[in-house]
Amino acid sequence: TAAPVDELISGLCATIPDYPKPGIVFKDLTPVFADGAALKAVVDALVEPFRGQFDAVAGVEVRGFLLAAAAAYATGTGVITVRKAGKLPREVVSEDYALEYGNATLELHTTDLPPGSRVLILDDVLATGGTLGAAVRLFERCGVEVTGVGVVLELGELDGRSALKGHRVSSLLRL
Ligand code: AMP
Repeated sequence: TAAPVDELISGLCATIPDYPKPGIVFKDLTPVFADGAALKAVVDALVEPFRGQFDAVAGVEVRGFLLAAAAAYATGTGVITVRKAGKLPREVVSEDYALEYGNATLELHTTDLPPGSRVLILDDVLATGGTLGAAVRLFERCGVEVTGVGVVLELGELDGRSALKGHRVSSLLRL
């Protein structure tokens, strides 16, 4: 029988100290995505707690796109891109959020989903929660219900869940 999904992730995930900056321990999930059995197990496990409760899957640029596209295809739902500032050509909502140093901005097309629809938001890693918190606010400002947030890896020490209070958060592996 197949290994549990958390063991697949921990076995394949690469750890890079001091990348991209000194003091940051970077968790690289690209070997998980590159493994067919692991990718399928991860996508199925991300969707499972929310099955039947969303109309579309959103991914946060850029690793979240991989997960969202696979999850949307697997569930017959649509895929939505939450993008870095300046990439979307039509009317957007924007949300600023804090990074370790400085700020960043995420954007969403206002008409990608009709008000009242339900979205599952996916990304690879939950660190401080700044990124996914901004993504949640974008959808709420468009009248879209956030069914939940799913991540492959949660860095528990950084308490990203506190930035996502009131929302269902599912992580496949907590470090
Ligand atoms: P945050 O906004 O702090 O929760 O950071 C989340 C985003 O930054 C995610 O899209 C991750 O891809 C990336 N990220 C932050 N910290 C790490 C880390 N230690 N290892 C890998 N990716 C990270």
